[in-house]
Amino acid sequence: MPKFGSRSLRNRDTIIPKLQEVLDLAILKMDFSVICGFRPEADQNKAYDEGKSTLRFPQSNHNVLPSKAVDLAPWPSLWSDIGKFYRLAAHMFRAANTVGIKLRGGLYWNRNGNLTDQKFNDLPHFEYKGIATQADIKQQEMLSKAYDKAGEKWEANH
Ligand SMILES: [Zn+2]
Repeated sequence: MPKFGSRSLRNRDTIIPKLQEVLDLAILKMDFSVICGFRPEADQNKAYDEGKSTLRFPQSNHNVLPSKAVDLAPWPSLWSDIGKFYRLAAHMFRAANTVGIKLRGGLYWNRNGNLTDQKFNDLPHFEYKGIATQADIKQQEMLSKAYDKAGEKWEANH
């Protein structure tokens, strides 16, 4: 069964407990790394300068401690293997429903009904948006199914 390495555990410690619970459920389904939790000022502005974030410190949800945002990457994986990010998103939204929180994924900022047309693709990013309502739970159920489909489609074509 997959489990977190020491760097992932250190990063996991910097995020809010509800989000930690979601990660702990998701890792049972698929191996991934926690690449960032809390991001201090110098790192945030560096990410902005490098085009990896659209926000400067302290505007990102990564800039509060404990952090409301977390960045994840499938393991082992190439960053170009987008299908694995879709699979991970499916697990994350299902886990969020189990924990009962609302999650927002960086792979779907524009929320236009099309999951795969993002201009600013922040595939690793997930953030906490509060306690989930019944409507959120339903929406997240649909999202996990849609990401499973997107993952299947990607795998069939690559
Ligand atoms: Zn992020």
